[in-house]
Amino acid sequence: MAKHIFVIGGVLSSLGKGIASSSIGLLMKKMGYKVVMQKFDPYLNVDPGTMSPFQHGEVFVTDDGAETDLDLGYYERFIGIPLDKNSNSTSGQIYDTILKKERRGDYLGKTVQVIPHVTDEIKSLIRKIAKDNDIVITEIGGTVGDIESLPFLEAIRQFRLDVGIENSLFIFLTYVPYIKAAGELKTKPTQHATTKLREIGIQPDILLCRSEKPFGDEIKSKIALFTNVQKSRVINAVDVSTIYELPKVLMKANIHERICEHFHLQQNRIDFSDWDRIIDNIKNPDKEVTIAVCGKYVKHQDAYKSVGAALIHAAAEHRLKLNVKWVDSEKTILEEDINKNLSEVDGILVPGGFGVRGIDGKIAIAKYARENNIPFFGICLGMQIAVIEFAQNVCGLKSTYSSEFEKDCEHPIIDLMDDQKYIEKMGGTMRLGAYPCVLKESSLGYKIYEEKEISERHRHRYEFNNKYREIIEKNGMKISGTSPDNLLVEIIEIPEHPFFIGVQFHPEFKSRPDKPHPIFREFIKKAAEMRKL
Ligand code: GLN
Repeated sequence: MAKHIFVIGGVLSSLGKGIASSSIGLLMKKMGYKVVMQKFDPYLNVDPGTMSPFQHGEVFVTDDGAETDLDLGYYERFIGIPLDKNSNSTSGQIYDTILKKERRGDYLGKTVQVIPHVTDEIKSLIRKIAKDNDIVITEIGGTVGDIESLPFLEAIRQFRLDVGIENSLFIFLTYVPYIKAAGELKTKPTQHATTKLREIGIQPDILLCRSEKPFGDEIKSKIALFTNVQKSRVINAVDVSTIYELPKVLMKANIHERICEHFHLQQNRIDFSDWDRIIDNIKNPDKEVTIAVCGKYVKHQDAYKSVGAALIHAAAEHRLKLNVKWVDSEKTILEEDINKNLSEVDGILVPGGFGVRGIDGKIAIAKYARENNIPFFGICLGMQIAVIEFAQNVCGLKSTYSSEFEKDCEHPIIDLMDDQKYIEKMGGTMRLGAYPCVLKESSLGYKIYEEKEISERHRHRYEFNNKYREIIEKNGMKISGTSPDNLLVEIIEIPEHPFFIGVQFHPEFKSRPDKPHPIFREFIKKAAEMRKL
């Protein structure tokens, strides 16, 4: 039977529950256990894909096309295992399932209630993911004390009753603030948050106490006394300079020992050398590189979480200090602004996005990168922009656009291809999840991947319009990757340029610290080689 670890948060949000859960996942995986992870989000949205990146950050996409919370990105990056739609559920989805059952008459006229119907549904989602795994880590979104997360907490309380204490472990992440005026670390918020959790019937087994400054035995004893958690199970998760250090911090604090002891599992040796190398590379770079990320969500960098992570992985691989310059494409249209914002960067990345806002800036930025031989990497919308710019300024098709921005434009080089079987297959309007792509052998894409067929994740509605293939190829833009049936354009490049590539998919979702994505890796390498400063 699988062992279940539940990670709950207290005191305040943004303590890094996703990173803590992922770090624990990595340690368990490194001990040889088969790990799976899952997140419950307490909000009522049924489709996280429709939530604004301004408010909710990036939508992370899995191979099976689920649009999920960005914490799943951390899970995949840390444990290195692709997850699927079963790893993320919202309250909205859970209620939706229950209400559909109710409408179908499945409850046979019974009163439908939070307990047991909602809690049963939650428990069934936990059991479902446990199949064939040794360790299931379930993160409960939100903070103890929120009304929204109560059904989840009630469900996991019951879950322990169902599976027994030896198969379930509650880890509670809290905060121990340092109060400058008093010159002290304060344990009261942790005490109160734990009391709140115990009020609803959950006694934490392990406390993970985040703090800015490290603390020792005295504070641990105090927390232990007030929270009823053994002192050896009060663990200090002290702030780290890179998130990839957290697993090591937790390992040094022996969290894996406590977990194995609780579950009566064998504690196997952890080889941390690969991650040690990554941390060393991040913390002791030889040189630097500056990359401009140009988009409209730059003030809300959570919207580009995986892009940021993939850049870090790639820079670490080359022992480079990464400077990211977040460039607002809505304010970078005029030549003087472009010069001001981009003249000192070594590489330009235009990430994905939706809607017309900031588009003219992105087109101007792609033009600048193309004309000035600056390494360019366009992702999804970024690739579409590069194609539009090339068609307008090199092919002379002045009124070229995407029909997303101008419905009836004369040359919709990026357009809806609603007659294509791919979209029909998905049943929706977006192309979502993993699709194969075949690379042309003599291309930059092939040189980067060193493979003829690859698989990458998608999340977009619009496609390259095949009517324009000939004209752009004739003018020097190469289509170097397509779907196996050659119907969909997946990669474009400009062979004349030192490094100019655009991809219709989102490679950032598959980058891992120990395995940087090849396009990011080569893009950063080229940018560093061509560094001006
Ligand atoms: N808005 C574009 C489309 O729907 C690009 C989407 C994206 O960048 N993810 O095709």
